[in-house]
Amino acid sequence: MSDERKRADVVLPGGTIGVVGGGQLGRMFALEARRMGYRVAVLDPGADAPATQLADEHVHASFSDPGAMRALAERSDVITLEWENADVATLRDFERIVPIRPGPGVLQVAQHRVREKDTARSLGILTPDYRAVHTREELAGALREIGTPAVLKTARFGYDGKGQAVIRHAGEADAAFDAVTGGRRDGPVELILEAWVRFTMEISVVCARGIDGEIACFPVAENVHQNAILDVSIVPARITPDVADAARRVAETMARGLDVVGLLAVEMFVGEDGHVRMNEVAPRPHNSGHYTIEACPVSQFEQQLRAVCGLPLGSTDLLRPAAMANLMGEHAGTALGRPGAAHALGVPATALHLYGKAEARPGRKMGHLTSLGDTPEQALERVLRARDLLSADA
Ligand code: AMP
Repeated sequence: MSDERKRADVVLPGGTIGVVGGGQLGRMFALEARRMGYRVAVLDPGADAPATQLADEHVHASFSDPGAMRALAERSDVITLEWENADVATLRDFERIVPIRPGPGVLQVAQHRVREKDTARSLGILTPDYRAVHTREELAGALREIGTPAVLKTARFGYDGKGQAVIRHAGEADAAFDAVTGGRRDGPVELILEAWVRFTMEISVVCARGIDGEIACFPVAENVHQNAILDVSIVPARITPDVADAARRVAETMARGLDVVGLLAVEMFVGEDGHVRMNEVAPRPHNSGHYTIEACPVSQFEQQLRAVCGLPLGSTDLLRPAAMANLMGEHAGTALGRPGAAHALGVPATALHLYGKAEARPGRKMGHLTSLGDTPEQALERVLRARDLLSADA
């Protein structure tokens, strides 16, 4: 292949979308892309990763393998991602050959909690108070400045509460440092200490930005976490219009400030003081945006496709209130072939999504349920009832 960059800004049906990552987000993206006549090539090290079951092509290799990135670039008219920890330097090399949307610069920020919050602050967005921490001494100093309770997190590769420790008083600092660094003493570690936000609600906004700078935000989701993993999303979030506007402004400002082409999901806290504070961003579809598949004219996955293909963005209207409940490996009935699934589907206006994962392990996202209702409360009641029925698996 010539190294001349594939120039087409607009990728039309029939074109091939390369996706870095083959998890459930890539799977749901592939379903939408194939519906619209696109071909999908997925890069993932797993032999039977959820997206590869639906992709036209699977580049079966490690994310850090430059040869694999070349193979993906050669097959693709545009590359997008469902996993934000791809190697930025490798992506920069291939950006010369094929458009990568969102670009490596977005990833560089989104991969690092300190950079994320520095960027937010530089754009005038509120965040929890935070300090970058590399040593025990810096942790002690940061704790004196920020106070307790606080939470210590790894700056990179943290997700779903992994690599985090809450510090209730200064005496817990050493144990938290050990827990988060795995007791490593060999060289610098990159951590962030954050003030513990007293929040009334966690919310998120999935926002799309096109190649021409057009922005469209999906409705604000109200999120409930269990063990730092998303459990349930309720839409619309039960917040005032002012708070919803503030949340959308945060998402739009971050998307514009980072020059995103594609999706940006932004997680935020609504503080007891009424202020919205940004927690983190992900430049890809988000678990809290799954409700858009049933509840909006265009899902977050179709919107990702539209944005990265240079097509007009779709409507983000909410057609009906919705609630989404995650199905984890510990919920009986999430493995394929279990009878619980059939019972869940007896609940009105409820959709089942299973990600094709053969083995149900605790902590593993196996699928989700989305229910619609006349009110957010009715949608929530339905989705929880459906999950109970599925989990009873009788
Ligand atoms: P994260 O991986 O940063 O999304 O954190 C996972 C979950 O931990 C969040 O959804 C919150 O429930 C909680 N959490 C993280 N950081 C904070 C914070 N600074 N203040 C309060 N709760 C937090």
